[in-house]
Amino acid sequence: MRRGGWLSVSDSPDVGGQGFPTIIAAAVSQMFLAGNQAFLMYPGLTHGAARLVEDFFQHPLRDLILEKMYNGAWTGTMCLTEPGAGSDVGALKTSARKNPDGTYSITGTKCFISAGDHNLTENIIHPVLARIEGDPPGTKGISIFVVPKIRINPDGSLGEPNDVVTGGIESKMGIHGNATCTLNFGENGKCIGWLMVEEREGMKVMFHLILAI
Ligand SMILES: Cc1cc2nc3c(=O)[nH]c(=O)nc-3n(C[C@H](O)[C@H](O)[C@H](O)COP(=O)(O)OP(=O)(O)OC[C@H]3O[C@@H](n4cnc5c(N)ncnc54)[C@H](O)[C@@H]3O)c2cc1C
Repeated sequence: MRRGGWLSVSDSPDVGGQGFPTIIAAAVSQMFLAGNQAFLMYPGLTHGAARLVEDFFQHPLRDLILEKMYNGAWTGTMCLTEPGAGSDVGALKTSARKNPDGTYSITGTKCFISAGDHNLTENIIHPVLARIEGDPPGTKGISIFVVPKIRINPDGSLGEPNDVVTGGIESKMGIHGNATCTLNFGENGKCIGWLMVEEREGMKVMFHLILAI
């Protein structure tokens, strides 16, 4: 899938895509879906998460992360659901505390995270919904963060693990070919994330990911 460039069929060649019309990407996606839906969730979520990075993330590492995701070297997820916050996303408890260097320390548990952990690729980029300490309750107070499984050094090389620990593989009906995980962020107080876009814009922005899968 990586060698054929199938992850980014209709994305701009400027970011490593093939530049085809969206209708071609939709047709390609249908074929892969018919072949193996469980597997397609890995590149699908990667594409959605990469699109968020492309459209919203302003950071010196943005282009590197984009290249790695659009060519499939790294995968992506979407981290909304928590044990006490499913349909009611606004009840989430995952929190973010600002650090002096502008990064955020992330703490919380997400569940049912499709493609949440695996060894298909050397890194995983998690867009994570969390509430910055002191922000209002409910969906209006939710922000979105870019949280790598493995930390990325300023030169683009990979650093130490980012304290994103797999609590378990979910027991669920169907889609057993995809690793749907419980993920614990910051169990040891060492999970660092970057704010993806302005504070409290998390819900609005996460919908862009879902549309771009
Ligand atoms: C295979 C699979 C993959 C998933 N992948 C991801 C993922 O990648 N990332 C992620 O963040 N999440 C993922 N999820 C989680 C998914 O988004 C949640 O399951 C979903 O949001 C529902 O939450 P819940 O399971 O807690 O159910 P609940 O919210 O507890 O709902 C249980 C039942 O109550 C009903 N209900 C809930 N609220 C109301 C209400 N106000 N009025 C009436 N009825 C109501 C619901 O319709 C449902 O029938 C995945 C789930 C599955 C099954």
